[in-house]
Amino acid sequence: RAKALGKARYEVFDTTMHAQAQARLQLETSLRQALERSEFHLNYQPIISLSTNKGIGFEALVRWRHPDRGIISPADFIPVAEETGLIIPLGQWVLQEACRQMKAWQEQFPICRSLTMSVNLSRQQLSQPDLAGQIDRILKGTGLSASCLNLEVTETGLMNEHEETAATILAEIKELGVQLSLDDFGTGYSSLSCIHSFPIDTLKLDRSFVNNMHIASKNMDIVRAIVTLARSLGIKVTAEGVETAKQLAQLQILKCDCAQGYFFSKPLAPEAVTDWIARNFPEIVRKFA
Ligand code: C2E
Ligand code: MG
Ligand code: MG
Ligand code: MG
Repeated sequence: RAKALGKARYEVFDTTMHAQAQARLQLETSLRQALERSEFHLNYQPIISLSTNKGIGFEALVRWRHPDRGIISPADFIPVAEETGLIIPLGQWVLQEACRQMKAWQEQFPICRSLTMSVNLSRQQLSQPDLAGQIDRILKGTGLSASCLNLEVTETGLMNEHEETAATILAEIKELGVQLSLDDFGTGYSSLSCIHSFPIDTLKLDRSFVNNMHIASKNMDIVRAIVTLARSLGIKVTAEGVETAKQLAQLQILKCDCAQGYFFSKPLAPEAVTDWIARNFPEIVRKFA
């Protein structure tokens, strides 16, 4: 009987595994097609300076409009794109499109010439020896100034077997004049060694810190310590996931440089960004009026 039960269990397990493998394979196939069929688009989330209360730029966030399943969030397909290598062509498309779009807004609204476009990079992209060359070509092709591009990398993206390669590639990227951010700061193991080994301009404080600030003064002390440390190293801090006025007030007390989150704006479709720019910079509207 035990044997029969064991077999039954094995079969259940096997069926589940099979179904999962099948679903994965299907996702992989449709991801491949999605690239060819241009099913991806970008949303843009404003990043706000806490000293001026104005936008300083946007973060480009990829979305997939699946023909049957609707909008699929990056958390559900970026890992598969990474495992299959599809992140390389997808990542190139994201970079190209984000730079093109930023340049277009700058031409439409000259006030946007001082704004930056942040783009997320996966670890696989950071192991391409020619990454800096690709970025340089995209900047030249779109006409976007290098200082307007900010690339977001995570600690896991940097801390891999290719650490030395990543360091070389980041140095080449910095030489182009592009800015670098360390994304999801504080969620990994070696965040502190990261900020001293890599030429980082901005730390993006993970939203778990921002969420927990109100719970205990200890959490606020941690954020204060990170901001102080960053300042002493000449690195800026952007708080991620700011959802409430209270969180914003606390971050202002801590002299955090910038913030991003639903409190200011959700990631926006490109058409909505134009309205956002007009609201954020009323002076440009007056000029046209
Ligand atoms: P991330 O780079 O840390 O991006 C921030 C994520 O937090 C975004 O999720 C954004 O929509 C969400 N967010 C912003 N404000 C708030 C808030 O106030 N509350 C909450 N709860 N969430 C907020 P999204 O767009 O689903 O992207 C998730 C992750 O997927 C990104 O995290 C990034 O790691 C990855 N990703 C997105 N687009 C790309 C891309 O083009 N390339 C690569 N390699 N990764 C991407
Ligand atoms: Mg990011
Ligand atoms: Mg992040
Ligand atoms: Mg993240």
